[in-house]
Amino acid sequence: MPPTQTARLLLIEDQRDIAANIWDYFERRGYAMDHARDGRRGLELALEGRFDLIILDLGLPRLDGMELCRRLRAAGHEMPVLMLTARDALEDKLRGLRDGADDYVVKPVVLCELKARVRALLRRGLPLPGGRLQADDLEFDSGSFVVHRGGRQLALTRMQTLLLERLLQRAPNVVTHEELGRVLWGDGQPGAGSLHTHMHALRITIDRPF
Ligand code: CA
Repeated sequence: MPPTQTARLLLIEDQRDIAANIWDYFERRGYAMDHARDGRRGLELALEGRFDLIILDLGLPRLDGMELCRRLRAAGHEMPVLMLTARDALEDKLRGLRDGADDYVVKPVVLCELKARVRALLRRGLPLPGGRLQADDLEFDSGSFVVHRGGRQLALTRMQTLLLERLLQRAPNVVTHEELGRVLWGDGQPGAGSLHTHMHALRITIDRPF
């Protein structure tokens, strides 16, 4: 998104103090904010389709964050979803990424880290140069982001798509962690643990059904 255009963020978070901190921080930096305190209201707002990105807490009253994300994707909405999670378990993060979240930040939220991830995801909204990439029975169309394996279409998150694209571009050469981190987050890299989580989720998506 061009820097002159105001990005519209929907924050879905039930803890008042956390929500207020995030709202103030982003509003002061020129983002247009909206907020929902429970999952049902959050989903209603998200389905209106007027937001560029959603910051989504996992543990929410009335509708769980994972279920909200699943329903949003099932309804065909593609805007980036950044998941906030107090749960540090790898399995929760992977489930979130499988259910359609694009990235996650572990609570307690560090605001400048959250901002770096938001900016990276908003940049991801730009179309990539077109072209087809192939490795064995895996086919990737970087114009449409559609991935097929053995004739079957796979559903990848935006981050997984970016990782796969870079790996295929470089194949059969090895790609460094540093380069993959730059593909996802630019220079504001959150660390090796996050990259491993995204790579793990990518492997599960690509390999598990086969
Ligand atoms: Ca919560």
